[in-house]
Amino acid sequence: MIAIPQERRLVTAVPGPKSQELQARRTATVAAGVSSTMPVFAERAGGGIVEDVDGNRLIDFGSGIAVTTVGSSAEAVVRRASAQLADFTHTCFMVTPYEEYVEVCEQLAALTPGDHAKKSALFNSGAEAVENAVKIARSYTKRQAVVVVDHAYHGRTNLTMALTAKNMPYKNGFGPFAPEVYRVPMAYPYRWPTGPENCGPEASAQAIEQITKQIGAQNVAAIIVEPLLGEGGFIEPAKGFLPALAAFAKDNGIVFVADEVQSGFCRTGAWFACEDEGIVPDLITTAKGIAGGLPLAAVTGRAEIMDAAHASGLGGTYGGNPVACAAALGAIETMRELDLPAKARRIEEVMKGRLTAMSEKYDVIGDVRGRGAMIAVELVKDRTTKEPAADVAGALAKACHQAGLVVLTCGTFGNVLRFLPPLVIGEDLLAEGLDIIEEKLAEL
Ligand SMILES: *Cc1c(COP(=O)(O)O)cnc(C)c1O
Repeated sequence: MIAIPQERRLVTAVPGPKSQELQARRTATVAAGVSSTMPVFAERAGGGIVEDVDGNRLIDFGSGIAVTTVGSSAEAVVRRASAQLADFTHTCFMVTPYEEYVEVCEQLAALTPGDHAKKSALFNSGAEAVENAVKIARSYTKRQAVVVVDHAYHGRTNLTMALTAKNMPYKNGFGPFAPEVYRVPMAYPYRWPTGPENCGPEASAQAIEQITKQIGAQNVAAIIVEPLLGEGGFIEPAKGFLPALAAFAKDNGIVFVADEVQSGFCRTGAWFACEDEGIVPDLITTAKGIAGGLPLAAVTGRAEIMDAAHASGLGGTYGGNPVACAAALGAIETMRELDLPAKARRIEEVMKGRLTAMSEKYDVIGDVRGRGAMIAVELVKDRTTKEPAADVAGALAKACHQAGLVVLTCGTFGNVLRFLPPLVIGEDLLAEGLDIIEEKLAEL
């Protein structure tokens, strides 16, 4: 049962007076570098609704950036995390361990692709998981180079800034960056010069050529790629690209890492996005959707790779916090019970149907893409030149916000409007959110 009524309701302008008051306090005391999509302060949230401090109820097409897949107050998450909170908040797994951590690792071994022996290590954030995947891969291979792709996003810490492609806002002025990071082409079907049908084979050939000629495969510890790119623009790598890179990695003793921090845990209509082309990564990084909103992240992978780092080489004070682990067990239980991969596929069907129809009416929509409840439209000024229309994406997002719909933008060119509803959203709210998008599109 979701306590908060599942209906959009606007009782003030968005943002309302209380949000504006809080925004003034925030501006005085919160660092300017930490910004927000909407100047609207949340009071409670659940299902497909975020209620603000003025009593407005907004439809949630953001899930706090793909985190609250099971909703923002899922019963099993609240129950299990609350019980754990009452038992103890922290002992530090590196001091006196507890069962919940072990149980999360057991679940990760069971749920991630491949039937090989697996182990996991738990952390607090996606960036931390990616950093640790690099440590583990370097330790196992005794090599240093790390290969990432164009448009990649892997986080905001020093090493993950180096792995991330986009300068503004993620990297500008924050260097120097970590060495031994190399970027290769990404199979971006919509913008591939010779067309989407050539994209997979050409991009993988170029990437492999660059690795062998410029780095030397024997120097590469890891290839890291998001099976469905998140911040970079919800780009689905053209078919064949990921299998070619995974096969190349296997042939050359390189650890293939799938960064599923955004795409994992049912978001794309499967438990993990890499299942789409039958990829079995050596390591997989997860976070966002894993624990219903509590901070938890993991690296999961082949036991012999995961065990390569020496004792005490991995860890952290809070990594795998017991309350976050209990929440993860509640989130996973909810995903299973409600068959959330199927819910994600149904959301895709509804969203793609409506958005494709809109793209037939409005030339500004250059591309409709994504899988499951990770869907986006790329906006362009002209369908032939594909010149990015970042201004339209920004204006459309703002108009949606004012109408009570939480939507996010993304993409290297800032021209992608992305939709990440909680998988438990009702179909009526989903349809109403799409109505708002269409209405605002028509007005623009
Ligand atoms: C969000 C994200 C990260 C970083 O996760 P944080 O929890 O913000 O550190 C890394 N990789 C991908 C693919 C992401 O979407």
